[in-house]
Amino acid sequence: MNKYYALVTGGSRGIGRAICQKLYRMGYEVLINYVSNTAAAEETLASLDGHGELLRFDVADADAVKAAIEGWQAAHPDDYIEVLVNNAGIRKDNLLIWMEPGEWKSVLDTSLNGFFNVTHAVIQPMLLHKYGRIVNVASLSGLKGLPGQTNYSAAKGGLIAATKALAQEVARKKVTVNAVAPGFIHTDMVEGLDEATLKKDIPAARFGDPEEVAALVGFLASRDASYITGEVISINGGLYS
Ligand code: NAP
Repeated sequence: MNKYYALVTGGSRGIGRAICQKLYRMGYEVLINYVSNTAAAEETLASLDGHGELLRFDVADADAVKAAIEGWQAAHPDDYIEVLVNNAGIRKDNLLIWMEPGEWKSVLDTSLNGFFNVTHAVIQPMLLHKYGRIVNVASLSGLKGLPGQTNYSAAKGGLIAATKALAQEVARKKVTVNAVAPGFIHTDMVEGLDEATLKKDIPAARFGDPEEVAALVGFLASRDASYITGEVISINGGLYS
């Protein structure tokens, strides 16, 4: 029986872990990418009942991405990655006036250049097989822009625009490209935020859970979502649309 493979960048923790688990439940063998937290990545792997493998690389490092994907492909000559979830991301918040060039660059390198590096490495087999699903994890910040996050907002806004452009390039080959734009979701990334104050502005009056984002990503990654492409879907409890 053929195996179907999905790659989730930043799959070790948070939203990425929940997406790995969702795709596993949908029948995928899941390639769990991460950059440094091996213990967390192994926890994700253990939750997939033997239907995953770890693929460690820094999405911002184009050579490392290429080497990892080519290595995987050489070991699996009859298979291809048919679902890619570009989820890896970091935030380094600061007002622009105080922002260090490194804070700007590292956030763009991870979310936006990471999208290019990984997508570039996996898209060709999707086109050849005339089937693929790419889901990009953007953010409310990429739609609205949030103060203190010019770097992150630019990265996620760029990711949304790239989603729309790439979707039009590959639609004829039955490859869909969509983005999700979460609001505040309970993960390590929002640790330290003042949840009690922030949730007063959220119509649903709470932060979301990673599993709620994973359910949306799972749908966009499914065969059922075949006529949705170039979309960005907000998932934010009504905070912004
Ligand atoms: P998280 O808990 O901080 O997890 C981040 C994940 O990204 C980890 O698996 C981390 O790997 C990985 N990662 C970071 N830099 C990487 C790199 N250079 N190469 C490969 N992997 C890298 O974050 P999260 O909240 O789940 O966020 C996931 C995505 O959702 C991000 O793109 C984030 O911007 C977006 N998002 C989050 C929220 C929210 O409220 N949480 C809202 C909107 C959008 P290690 O474990 O190895 O460090």
